[in-house]
Amino acid sequence: MVTISGQAVHRQLAIGRLQYLSKTHPELLRATAADTEEELRAFRAAKAEVVGRLHELYCESVPKVGELLAHTFEIHAMMVEDEAYSGMVESMIGSEKVTAAYAVAATGRHYAQMLAQMEDPYFRSRSEDIIEITDRLTDALLGNRHEVTLTEPVILMAEDLAPGETMQLDHSRILGIVTHYGSENSHAAILARTMNLPAITGIAIRDEWDGREAVIDGENGLLIVDPDEETKASYEEKIRRKKLEEEELAAMLPLPCVTKSGVKVPLLANVGSVADAAAAAEKGAEGIGLLRTEFLCLAGDAYPTEEQQLETYKSVLSAIQGKPVTIRTFDLGSDKSAPFMQLPEETNPDLGYRAIRISLADEEPFRAQLRAILRASAFGQVSVLYPMISAEWEIRRIGSIFREEKERLTAAGVAVGEVRQGVMIETPAAAIVCDRLVPYVDFVSIGTNDLTQYLLAADRRNPYVAPYYDPHHEAVMRTIAHVVKTAHEAGVSVSVCGELAADVTATQELLRMGVDALSAAPGALASVKRCVRACE
Ligand code: PEP
Ligand code: MG
Repeated sequence: MVTISGQAVHRQLAIGRLQYLSKTHPELLRATAADTEEELRAFRAAKAEVVGRLHELYCESVPKVGELLAHTFEIHAMMVEDEAYSGMVESMIGSEKVTAAYAVAATGRHYAQMLAQMEDPYFRSRSEDIIEITDRLTDALLGNRHEVTLTEPVILMAEDLAPGETMQLDHSRILGIVTHYGSENSHAAILARTMNLPAITGIAIRDEWDGREAVIDGENGLLIVDPDEETKASYEEKIRRKKLEEEELAAMLPLPCVTKSGVKVPLLANVGSVADAAAAAEKGAEGIGLLRTEFLCLAGDAYPTEEQQLETYKSVLSAIQGKPVTIRTFDLGSDKSAPFMQLPEETNPDLGYRAIRISLADEEPFRAQLRAILRASAFGQVSVLYPMISAEWEIRRIGSIFREEKERLTAAGVAVGEVRQGVMIETPAAAIVCDRLVPYVDFVSIGTNDLTQYLLAADRRNPYVAPYYDPHHEAVMRTIAHVVKTAHEAGVSVSVCGELAADVTATQELLRMGVDALSAAPGALASVKRCVRACE
Protein backbone atom coordinates (compact mmCIF):
# COMPACT_ATOMS: atom_id res chain seq x y z
CA MET A 1 0.00 0.00 0.00
CA VAL A 2 1.34 3.47 -0.85
CA THR A 3 -0.21 6.75 0.27
CA ILE A 4 0.56 9.88 -1.73
CA SER A 5 -0.47 13.27 -0.61
CA GLY A 6 -1.69 15.96 -3.04
CA GLN A 7 -4.05 18.88 -3.05
CA ALA A 8 -7.76 18.29 -2.44
CA VAL A 9 -9.94 19.66 -5.24
CA HIS A 10 -13.32 18.15 -4.44
CA ARG A 11 -14.17 16.60 -1.11
CA GLN A 12 -15.56 13.22 -2.06
CA LEU A 13 -14.34 9.65 -1.61
CA ALA A 14 -14.20 6.62 -3.91
CA ILE A 15 -12.60 3.20 -4.26
CA GLY A 16 -11.87 1.70 -7.67
CA ARG A 17 -9.35 0.78 -10.33
CA LEU A 18 -6.95 3.39 -11.64
CA GLN A 19 -6.93 4.07 -15.36
CA TYR A 20 -3.93 5.90 -16.73
CA LEU A 21 -4.56 8.35 -19.55
CA SER A 22 -1.11 8.73 -21.00
CA LYS A 23 0.15 11.91 -22.57
CA THR A 24 -0.23 11.34 -26.27
CA HIS A 25 1.36 14.43 -27.70
CA PRO A 26 5.15 14.19 -27.90
CA GLU A 27 7.15 17.28 -28.74
CA LEU A 28 7.15 17.92 -32.51
CA LEU A 29 10.56 18.45 -34.04
CA ARG A 30 11.22 21.33 -36.41
CA ALA A 31 10.57 20.14 -39.95
CA THR A 32 11.05 22.01 -43.23
CA ALA A 33 8.13 22.15 -45.64
CA ALA A 34 8.52 20.93 -49.20
CA ASP A 35 5.72 23.19 -50.40
CA THR A 36 4.61 26.11 -48.23
CA GLU A 37 1.39 26.67 -50.21
CA GLU A 38 0.44 23.05 -49.53
CA GLU A 39 1.16 23.53 -45.78
CA LEU A 40 -1.01 26.65 -45.67
CA ARG A 41 -3.85 24.76 -47.37
CA ALA A 42 -3.42 21.84 -44.93
CA PHE A 43 -3.52 24.23 -41.96
CA ARG A 44 -6.75 25.89 -43.18
CA ALA A 45 -8.35 22.48 -43.79
CA ALA A 46 -7.30 21.29 -40.30
CA LYS A 47 -8.78 24.43 -38.80
CA ALA A 48 -12.12 23.83 -40.52
CA GLU A 49 -12.12 20.16 -39.44
CA VAL A 50 -11.34 21.02 -35.81
CA VAL A 51 -13.93 23.82 -35.64
CA GLY A 52 -16.55 21.43 -37.06
CA ARG A 53 -15.67 18.75 -34.51
CA LEU A 54 -15.77 21.30 -31.66
CA HIS A 55 -19.29 22.36 -32.65
CA GLU A 56 -20.34 18.70 -32.66
CA LEU A 57 -18.77 18.17 -29.24
CA TYR A 58 -20.59 21.24 -27.94
CA CYS A 59 -23.95 19.81 -29.03
CA GLU A 60 -23.14 16.37 -27.58
CA SER A 61 -21.97 17.84 -24.26
CA VAL A 62 -24.85 20.19 -23.47
CA PRO A 63 -27.12 17.37 -22.24
CA LYS A 64 -24.19 15.73 -20.39
CA VAL A 65 -22.64 18.63 -18.50
CA GLY A 66 -24.90 21.60 -19.12
CA GLU A 67 -24.61 24.66 -21.29
CA LEU A 68 -21.99 26.45 -19.23
CA LEU A 69 -19.32 23.77 -19.22
CA ALA A 70 -20.09 22.70 -22.77
CA HIS A 71 -19.54 26.29 -23.79
CA THR A 72 -15.80 25.52 -23.44
CA PHE A 73 -16.00 23.87 -26.87
CA GLU A 74 -17.45 27.02 -28.39
CA ILE A 75 -14.67 29.05 -26.80
CA HIS A 76 -12.13 26.58 -28.20
CA ALA A 77 -13.65 26.97 -31.66
CA MET A 78 -13.24 30.73 -31.33
CA MET A 79 -9.63 30.27 -30.22
CA VAL A 80 -8.88 28.07 -33.24
CA GLU A 81 -10.24 30.82 -35.45
CA ASP A 82 -8.44 33.57 -33.54
CA GLU A 83 -6.58 35.81 -35.94
CA ALA A 84 -3.50 36.28 -33.79
CA TYR A 85 -3.03 32.52 -33.40
CA SER A 86 -3.70 31.70 -37.07
CA GLY A 87 -1.65 34.71 -38.16
CA MET A 88 1.37 33.48 -36.25
CA VAL A 89 1.04 29.95 -37.66
CA GLU A 90 0.67 31.20 -41.23
CA SER A 91 3.50 33.67 -40.98
CA MET A 92 5.82 30.96 -39.58
CA ILE A 93 4.93 28.67 -42.45
CA GLY A 94 5.53 31.51 -44.94
CA SER A 95 8.69 33.01 -43.49
CA GLU A 96 10.43 30.04 -41.85
CA LYS A 97 9.26 27.46 -44.42
CA VAL A 98 8.28 24.94 -41.72
CA THR A 99 5.52 22.34 -41.78
CA ALA A 100 2.04 23.34 -40.63
CA ALA A 101 2.21 20.81 -37.76
CA TYR A 102 5.45 22.31 -36.47
CA ALA A 103 4.20 25.89 -36.85
CA VAL A 104 1.03 25.02 -34.91
CA ALA A 105 3.00 23.29 -32.15
CA ALA A 106 5.43 26.21 -31.84
CA THR A 107 2.62 28.80 -31.81
CA GLY A 108 0.70 26.84 -29.18
CA ARG A 109 3.81 26.57 -27.03
CA HIS A 110 4.41 30.30 -27.32
CA TYR A 111 0.90 31.28 -26.19
CA ALA A 112 0.67 28.56 -23.53
CA GLN A 113 3.94 29.70 -21.95
CA MET A 114 2.90 33.32 -22.09
CA LEU A 115 -0.36 32.56 -20.26
CA ALA A 116 1.27 30.16 -17.80
CA GLN A 117 3.55 32.96 -16.63
CA MET A 118 0.75 35.36 -15.84
CA GLU A 119 0.05 36.16 -12.24
CA ASP A 120 -3.68 35.85 -12.46
CA PRO A 121 -4.76 32.23 -11.82
CA TYR A 122 -7.58 32.61 -14.35
CA PHE A 123 -5.18 33.38 -17.21
CA ARG A 124 -2.71 30.76 -15.99
CA SER A 125 -5.35 28.08 -16.19
CA ARG A 126 -6.30 29.25 -19.73
CA SER A 127 -2.98 27.95 -20.99
CA GLU A 128 -4.63 24.49 -20.76
CA ASP A 129 -7.08 25.58 -23.44
CA ILE A 130 -4.30 26.67 -25.77
CA ILE A 131 -2.54 23.33 -25.32
CA GLU A 132 -5.75 21.49 -26.07
CA ILE A 133 -6.62 23.34 -29.28
CA THR A 134 -3.01 23.00 -30.39
CA ASP A 135 -3.13 19.24 -29.82
CA ARG A 136 -6.40 19.01 -31.74
CA LEU A 137 -4.89 20.89 -34.68
CA THR A 138 -1.69 18.84 -34.77
CA ASP A 139 -3.76 15.63 -34.53
CA ALA A 140 -5.85 16.78 -37.49
CA LEU A 141 -2.71 17.63 -39.48
CA LEU A 142 -0.93 14.37 -38.69
CA GLY A 143 -4.04 12.18 -38.91
CA ASN A 144 -3.74 11.04 -35.25
CA ARG A 145 -6.78 9.76 -33.40
CA HIS A 146 -6.95 9.85 -29.60
CA GLU A 147 -10.31 8.53 -28.56
CA VAL A 148 -10.42 7.04 -25.05
CA THR A 149 -13.23 4.60 -24.26
CA LEU A 150 -13.96 3.64 -20.68
CA THR A 151 -15.28 0.10 -20.38
CA GLU A 152 -15.81 0.02 -16.59
CA PRO A 153 -16.06 2.57 -13.75
CA VAL A 154 -12.52 3.81 -13.02
CA ILE A 155 -10.51 6.47 -11.24
CA LEU A 156 -8.89 8.50 -14.00
CA MET A 157 -5.23 9.30 -13.56
CA ALA A 158 -3.37 11.68 -15.87
CA GLU A 159 -0.57 14.22 -15.92
CA ASP A 160 -3.26 16.74 -16.70
CA LEU A 161 -6.70 16.53 -18.24
CA ALA A 162 -7.65 18.75 -21.10
CA PRO A 163 -11.16 20.15 -20.67
CA GLY A 164 -12.53 18.71 -23.89
CA GLU A 165 -10.86 15.36 -23.28
CA THR A 166 -12.57 15.15 -19.89
CA MET A 167 -15.98 16.10 -21.22
CA GLN A 168 -15.78 13.59 -24.06
CA LEU A 169 -15.49 10.68 -21.63
CA ASP A 170 -18.44 8.62 -20.45
CA HIS A 171 -19.09 10.29 -17.11
CA SER A 172 -21.12 7.45 -15.68
CA ARG A 173 -17.85 5.47 -15.69
CA ILE A 174 -15.67 8.00 -13.84
CA LEU A 175 -15.31 7.40 -10.10
CA GLY A 176 -12.72 10.10 -9.45
CA ILE A 177 -9.97 12.19 -11.00
CA VAL A 178 -6.28 12.29 -10.06
CA THR A 179 -3.91 14.64 -11.86
CA HIS A 180 -0.36 15.82 -11.51
CA TYR A 181 -0.93 19.30 -12.87
CA GLY A 182 -4.02 21.40 -12.51
CA SER A 183 -5.49 23.87 -10.14
CA GLU A 184 -8.72 24.59 -8.36
CA ASN A 185 -9.78 26.63 -11.40
CA SER A 186 -8.87 24.01 -13.99
CA HIS A 187 -11.63 22.52 -16.09
CA ALA A 188 -11.03 19.08 -14.61
CA ALA A 189 -11.60 20.59 -11.16
CA ILE A 190 -14.75 22.41 -12.25
CA LEU A 191 -16.06 19.26 -13.88
CA ALA A 192 -15.30 17.18 -10.78
CA ARG A 193 -17.24 19.65 -8.67
CA THR A 194 -20.15 19.74 -11.14
CA MET A 195 -20.31 15.96 -11.18
CA ASN A 196 -19.64 15.67 -7.43
CA LEU A 197 -16.65 13.37 -8.01
CA PRO A 198 -13.62 13.12 -5.74
CA ALA A 199 -10.64 14.90 -7.27
CA ILE A 200 -7.06 15.59 -6.24
CA THR A 201 -4.17 17.23 -7.97
CA GLY A 202 -0.43 17.51 -7.36
CA ILE A 203 0.13 13.73 -7.47
CA ALA A 204 3.27 12.53 -9.29
CA ILE A 205 1.56 9.95 -11.48
CA ARG A 206 3.23 6.54 -12.13
CA ASP A 207 2.13 4.58 -15.17
CA GLU A 208 2.69 1.27 -13.34
CA TRP A 209 -0.34 2.11 -11.16
CA ASP A 210 -2.55 1.60 -14.21
CA GLY A 211 -5.17 -1.06 -13.39
CA ARG A 212 -4.31 -1.17 -9.67
CA GLU A 213 -6.91 -0.68 -6.98
CA ALA A 214 -6.90 2.66 -5.16
CA VAL A 215 -8.73 4.88 -2.74
CA ILE A 216 -9.15 8.52 -3.69
CA ASP A 217 -9.70 10.67 -0.65
CA GLY A 218 -10.72 14.11 -1.88
CA GLU A 219 -11.27 15.28 1.70
CA ASN A 220 -7.65 14.97 2.71
CA GLY A 221 -6.07 15.09 -0.75
CA LEU A 222 -4.82 11.49 -0.57
CA LEU A 223 -4.36 8.76 -3.15
CA ILE A 224 -3.89 5.32 -1.61
CA VAL A 225 -2.69 2.75 -4.15
CA ASP A 226 -3.20 -0.96 -3.28
CA PRO A 227 -5.00 -0.22 0.00
CA ASP A 228 -4.74 -3.00 2.60
CA GLU A 229 -7.94 -4.68 3.81
CA GLU A 230 -8.19 -2.55 6.94
CA THR A 231 -7.80 0.75 5.06
CA LYS A 232 -10.26 -0.36 2.41
CA ALA A 233 -12.82 -1.40 5.03
CA SER A 234 -12.47 1.89 6.87
CA TYR A 235 -13.01 3.86 3.63
CA GLU A 236 -15.98 1.69 2.70
CA GLU A 237 -17.50 2.60 6.05
CA LYS A 238 -16.73 6.31 5.50
CA ILE A 239 -18.33 6.20 2.03
CA ARG A 240 -21.41 4.50 3.50
CA ARG A 241 -21.72 7.17 6.22
CA LYS A 242 -21.18 9.97 3.72
CA LYS A 243 -23.91 8.60 1.50
CA LEU A 244 -26.33 8.47 4.45
CA GLU A 245 -25.39 12.05 5.38
CA GLU A 246 -25.95 13.17 1.78
CA GLU A 247 -29.36 11.48 1.71
CA GLU A 248 -30.28 13.18 4.97
CA LEU A 249 -29.19 16.56 3.58
CA ALA A 250 -31.01 15.96 0.29
CA ALA A 251 -34.17 15.37 2.33
CA MET A 252 -33.83 18.97 3.61
CA LEU A 253 -34.39 20.36 0.13
CA PRO A 254 -38.20 20.71 0.15
CA LEU A 255 -38.39 21.72 3.85
CA PRO A 256 -38.69 25.37 4.94
CA CYS A 257 -35.79 27.07 6.73
CA VAL A 258 -37.54 27.76 10.01
CA THR A 259 -36.61 27.37 13.66
CA LYS A 260 -38.55 25.10 16.03
CA SER A 261 -40.36 28.14 17.39
CA GLY A 262 -41.47 29.10 13.89
CA VAL A 263 -39.04 31.93 13.04
CA LYS A 264 -38.39 31.96 9.28
CA VAL A 265 -34.73 32.48 8.35
CA PRO A 266 -34.33 33.25 4.65
CA LEU A 267 -31.53 31.03 3.37
CA LEU A 268 -29.73 32.71 0.50
CA ALA A 269 -26.73 31.80 -1.63
CA ASN A 270 -23.36 33.41 -2.28
CA VAL A 271 -22.51 33.01 -5.94
CA GLY A 272 -19.84 34.18 -8.35
CA SER A 273 -21.25 33.18 -11.72
CA VAL A 274 -24.42 32.26 -13.58
CA ALA A 275 -23.52 28.57 -13.15
CA ASP A 276 -23.32 29.04 -9.38
CA ALA A 277 -26.74 30.67 -9.43
CA ALA A 278 -28.17 27.61 -11.19
CA ALA A 279 -26.50 25.38 -8.57
CA ALA A 280 -28.00 27.58 -5.84
CA ALA A 281 -31.50 27.10 -7.30
CA GLU A 282 -30.96 23.34 -7.28
CA LYS A 283 -29.89 23.46 -3.63
CA GLY A 284 -33.10 25.26 -2.68
CA ALA A 285 -31.71 28.79 -2.14
CA GLU A 286 -34.44 31.32 -1.48
CA GLY A 287 -32.50 33.89 -3.45
CA ILE A 288 -28.98 35.19 -4.02
CA GLY A 289 -27.72 37.04 -0.95
CA LEU A 290 -24.39 37.93 -2.55
CA LEU A 291 -23.56 38.00 -6.24
CA ARG A 292 -19.81 38.64 -6.45
CA THR A 293 -19.63 40.52 -9.76
CA GLU A 294 -15.83 40.57 -9.99
CA PHE A 295 -15.88 37.46 -12.20
CA LEU A 296 -17.14 39.73 -14.98
CA CYS A 297 -13.90 41.72 -14.91
CA LEU A 298 -11.20 39.16 -14.21
CA ALA A 299 -11.28 37.47 -17.61
CA GLY A 300 -11.62 40.48 -19.86
CA ASP A 301 -9.39 43.24 -21.08
CA ALA A 302 -11.77 46.03 -20.02
CA TYR A 303 -14.67 46.55 -17.65
CA PRO A 304 -17.74 44.71 -18.94
CA THR A 305 -20.10 47.10 -20.71
CA GLU A 306 -23.47 48.08 -19.29
CA GLU A 307 -25.18 45.84 -21.88
CA GLN A 308 -22.95 42.84 -21.09
CA GLN A 309 -23.66 43.27 -17.40
CA LEU A 310 -27.38 43.61 -17.97
CA GLU A 311 -27.39 40.31 -19.88
CA THR A 312 -25.47 38.56 -17.10
CA TYR A 313 -27.70 39.92 -14.35
CA LYS A 314 -30.77 38.83 -16.32
CA SER A 315 -29.23 35.35 -16.69
CA VAL A 316 -28.65 35.19 -12.93
CA LEU A 317 -32.27 36.24 -12.31
CA SER A 318 -33.50 33.53 -14.60
CA ALA A 319 -31.08 30.91 -13.18
CA ILE A 320 -32.46 31.54 -9.69
CA GLN A 321 -35.97 31.29 -11.07
CA GLY A 322 -37.42 34.66 -10.16
CA LYS A 323 -36.17 34.76 -6.58
CA PRO A 324 -34.50 37.93 -5.25
CA VAL A 325 -30.90 38.70 -6.20
CA THR A 326 -28.49 40.97 -4.33
CA ILE A 327 -25.80 42.27 -6.66
CA ARG A 328 -22.63 43.48 -5.00
CA THR A 329 -20.80 46.17 -6.93
CA PHE A 330 -17.25 45.30 -8.06
CA ASP A 331 -15.06 44.30 -5.13
CA LEU A 332 -11.83 44.60 -7.10
CA GLY A 333 -8.32 45.27 -5.92
CA SER A 334 -6.25 43.37 -3.37
CA ASP A 335 -6.16 39.73 -4.58
CA LYS A 336 -8.87 40.34 -7.21
CA SER A 337 -7.24 42.56 -9.75
CA ALA A 338 -7.88 42.41 -13.48
CA PRO A 339 -4.73 43.00 -15.58
CA PHE A 340 -6.41 45.80 -17.58
CA MET A 341 -6.90 47.88 -14.42
CA GLN A 342 -3.16 48.36 -13.95
CA LEU A 343 -3.53 48.89 -10.25
CA PRO A 344 -0.61 50.39 -8.35
CA GLU A 345 1.79 48.17 -6.39
CA GLU A 346 0.73 48.48 -2.77
CA THR A 347 2.45 47.59 0.47
CA ASN A 348 -0.84 46.66 2.16
CA PRO A 349 -3.35 45.91 -0.61
CA ASP A 350 -6.11 44.90 1.80
CA LEU A 351 -5.81 48.32 3.43
CA GLY A 352 -5.49 49.99 0.09
CA TYR A 353 -7.16 50.87 -3.13
CA ARG A 354 -9.96 48.34 -3.40
CA ALA A 355 -13.70 47.79 -3.77
CA ILE A 356 -15.83 50.93 -3.26
CA ARG A 357 -12.67 53.04 -3.09
CA ILE A 358 -11.94 52.20 -6.73
CA SER A 359 -15.61 52.72 -7.68
CA LEU A 360 -15.66 56.20 -6.15
CA ALA A 361 -12.29 57.20 -7.60
CA ASP A 362 -13.07 55.93 -11.11
CA GLU A 363 -16.78 56.73 -11.30
CA GLU A 364 -17.71 55.89 -14.88
CA PRO A 365 -17.45 52.07 -14.58
CA PHE A 366 -19.35 52.32 -11.28
CA ARG A 367 -22.11 54.38 -12.89
CA ALA A 368 -22.34 51.87 -15.75
CA GLN A 369 -22.67 49.04 -13.25
CA LEU A 370 -25.41 50.87 -11.34
CA ARG A 371 -27.29 51.49 -14.60
CA ALA A 372 -27.04 47.80 -15.49
CA ILE A 373 -28.32 46.86 -12.03
CA LEU A 374 -31.18 49.38 -12.25
CA ARG A 375 -32.15 48.10 -15.69
CA ALA A 376 -31.98 44.48 -14.50
CA SER A 377 -34.51 45.38 -11.80
CA ALA A 378 -37.16 45.63 -14.51
CA PHE A 379 -36.77 41.85 -14.90
CA GLY A 380 -36.91 40.69 -11.25
CA GLN A 381 -36.30 41.54 -7.61
CA VAL A 382 -32.89 43.17 -7.44
CA SER A 383 -30.93 44.74 -4.58
CA VAL A 384 -27.54 46.40 -4.73
CA LEU A 385 -24.84 45.96 -2.10
CA TYR A 386 -21.76 48.17 -1.60
CA PRO A 387 -18.51 46.55 -0.39
CA MET A 388 -15.80 47.87 1.99
CA ILE A 389 -17.63 50.92 3.26
CA SER A 390 -15.81 52.67 6.10
CA ALA A 391 -17.40 56.14 6.35
CA GLU A 392 -20.72 57.94 6.09
CA TRP A 393 -19.53 60.24 3.29
CA GLU A 394 -19.07 57.22 1.01
CA ILE A 395 -22.65 56.09 1.36
CA ARG A 396 -23.91 59.64 0.88
CA ARG A 397 -21.86 60.00 -2.30
CA ILE A 398 -23.05 56.59 -3.54
CA GLY A 399 -26.63 57.61 -2.79
CA SER A 400 -26.38 60.70 -4.97
CA ILE A 401 -24.70 58.81 -7.84
CA PHE A 402 -27.41 56.15 -7.59
CA ARG A 403 -30.20 58.78 -7.70
CA GLU A 404 -28.58 60.56 -10.66
CA GLU A 405 -28.31 57.37 -12.69
CA LYS A 406 -31.85 56.30 -11.82
CA GLU A 407 -33.21 59.71 -12.85
CA ARG A 408 -31.17 59.63 -16.03
CA LEU A 409 -32.63 56.24 -17.01
CA THR A 410 -36.18 57.20 -16.08
CA ALA A 411 -35.90 60.47 -18.05
CA ALA A 412 -34.79 58.45 -21.07
CA GLY A 413 -37.87 56.25 -20.71
CA VAL A 414 -35.91 53.16 -19.64
CA ALA A 415 -37.83 50.76 -17.39
CA VAL A 416 -36.39 50.39 -13.89
CA GLY A 417 -37.86 48.66 -10.85
CA GLU A 418 -37.44 49.27 -7.12
CA VAL A 419 -33.82 48.52 -6.19
CA ARG A 420 -33.14 48.10 -2.46
CA GLN A 421 -29.73 49.38 -1.39
CA GLY A 422 -27.53 47.72 1.20
CA VAL A 423 -24.19 48.30 2.79
CA MET A 424 -21.64 45.63 3.67
CA ILE A 425 -20.33 45.79 7.18
CA GLU A 426 -16.82 44.44 6.82
CA THR A 427 -14.62 47.13 8.34
CA PRO A 428 -14.53 47.84 12.08
CA ALA A 429 -15.28 51.50 11.27
CA ALA A 430 -18.51 50.60 9.47
CA ALA A 431 -19.56 48.42 12.40
CA ILE A 432 -18.83 51.15 14.96
CA VAL A 433 -20.61 53.90 13.01
CA CYS A 434 -23.34 51.60 11.79
CA ASP A 435 -25.95 54.01 13.22
CA ARG A 436 -24.66 56.66 10.78
CA LEU A 437 -24.93 54.34 7.78
CA VAL A 438 -28.29 52.64 8.25
CA PRO A 439 -30.43 55.76 7.61
CA TYR A 440 -29.23 55.66 3.98
CA VAL A 441 -29.92 52.00 3.24
CA ASP A 442 -32.61 49.35 3.25
CA PHE A 443 -30.51 46.50 4.65
CA VAL A 444 -27.04 45.61 5.86
CA SER A 445 -25.02 42.50 5.14
CA ILE A 446 -22.17 41.51 7.43
CA GLY A 447 -19.09 40.25 5.57
CA THR A 448 -17.47 38.27 8.34
CA ASN A 449 -14.47 37.26 6.20
CA ASP A 450 -13.10 40.77 5.96
CA LEU A 451 -14.59 41.92 9.25
CA THR A 452 -12.62 39.18 11.03
CA GLN A 453 -9.35 40.04 9.32
CA TYR A 454 -9.67 43.75 10.03
CA LEU A 455 -10.92 43.38 13.60
CA LEU A 456 -8.24 40.87 14.56
CA ALA A 457 -5.45 42.36 12.41
CA ALA A 458 -4.94 38.90 10.87
CA ASP A 459 -4.66 38.58 7.08
CA ARG A 460 -7.31 36.09 5.89
CA ARG A 461 -4.88 34.61 3.32
CA ASN A 462 -1.74 34.39 5.42
CA PRO A 463 -1.20 30.84 6.77
CA TYR A 464 1.27 32.11 9.38
CA VAL A 465 -1.45 34.01 11.18
CA ALA A 466 -4.21 31.47 10.59
CA PRO A 467 -4.52 30.75 14.35
CA TYR A 468 -5.24 34.46 14.88
CA TYR A 469 -7.88 34.58 12.17
CA ASP A 470 -10.77 33.35 14.29
CA PRO A 471 -14.30 34.30 13.13
CA HIS A 472 -15.59 32.97 16.48
CA HIS A 473 -13.46 35.47 18.42
CA GLU A 474 -15.47 37.36 21.02
CA ALA A 475 -14.56 40.63 19.29
CA VAL A 476 -16.25 39.43 16.10
CA MET A 477 -19.30 38.11 17.91
CA ARG A 478 -19.77 41.29 19.96
CA THR A 479 -19.39 43.39 16.82
CA ILE A 480 -22.06 41.38 15.01
CA ALA A 481 -24.38 41.75 18.01
CA HIS A 482 -23.78 45.52 18.02
CA VAL A 483 -24.53 45.81 14.29
CA VAL A 484 -27.73 43.74 14.57
CA LYS A 485 -28.99 45.81 17.52
CA THR A 486 -28.17 49.15 15.87
CA ALA A 487 -29.68 48.21 12.52
CA HIS A 488 -32.83 46.81 14.11
CA GLU A 489 -33.31 50.01 16.12
CA ALA A 490 -33.44 51.80 12.77
CA GLY A 491 -35.79 49.18 11.33
CA VAL A 492 -33.15 47.82 8.95
CA SER A 493 -32.70 44.06 8.43
CA VAL A 494 -29.37 42.27 8.76
CA SER A 495 -27.95 39.30 6.93
CA VAL A 496 -24.61 37.58 7.31
CA CYS A 497 -22.88 36.66 4.07
CA GLY A 498 -19.32 35.79 5.17
CA GLU A 499 -18.18 32.20 5.64
CA LEU A 500 -19.51 32.31 9.21
CA ALA A 501 -23.00 32.00 7.73
CA ALA A 502 -22.04 28.51 6.51
CA ASP A 503 -20.51 27.49 9.82
CA VAL A 504 -23.10 25.42 11.66
CA THR A 505 -21.23 25.83 14.94
CA ALA A 506 -22.13 29.54 14.79
CA THR A 507 -25.71 29.35 13.46
CA GLN A 508 -27.44 29.19 16.85
CA GLU A 509 -25.45 32.16 18.15
CA LEU A 510 -26.19 34.26 15.04
CA LEU A 511 -29.91 33.56 15.33
CA ARG A 512 -29.85 34.34 19.05
CA MET A 513 -28.35 37.74 18.23
CA GLY A 514 -31.25 38.37 15.84
CA VAL A 515 -29.58 37.98 12.44
CA ASP A 516 -32.47 37.98 9.95
CA ALA A 517 -31.03 36.03 7.00
CA LEU A 518 -28.04 33.87 6.14
CA SER A 519 -26.22 33.72 2.83
CA ALA A 520 -23.76 30.90 2.18
CA ALA A 521 -22.18 28.89 -0.64
CA PRO A 522 -24.77 26.66 -2.39
CA GLY A 523 -23.07 23.49 -1.15
CA ALA A 524 -23.50 24.56 2.48
CA LEU A 525 -27.21 25.45 2.35
CA ALA A 526 -28.61 22.04 3.30
CA SER A 527 -26.46 21.66 6.41
CA VAL A 528 -27.24 25.24 7.52
CA LYS A 529 -30.94 24.56 7.02
CA ARG A 530 -30.72 21.37 9.08
CA CYS A 531 -29.05 23.37 11.83
CA VAL A 532 -31.61 26.22 11.74
CA ARG A 533 -34.44 23.68 11.94
CA ALA A 534 -32.83 22.22 15.09
CA CYS A 535 -32.60 25.67 16.78
CA GLU A 536 -35.28 26.79 19.27
C1 PEP B 1 -16.71 39.00 3.35
O1 PEP B 1 -15.73 39.74 3.42
O2 PEP B 1 -17.17 38.35 4.33
C2 PEP B 1 -17.41 38.82 2.08
C3 PEP B 1 -18.54 38.14 2.00
O3 PEP B 1 -16.81 39.33 0.96
P1 PEP B 1 -15.58 38.60 0.20
O4 PEP B 1 -15.38 37.26 0.85
O5 PEP B 1 -15.98 38.53 -1.22
O6 PEP B 1 -14.47 39.55 0.49
MG1 MG C 1 -15.29 41.10 1.78
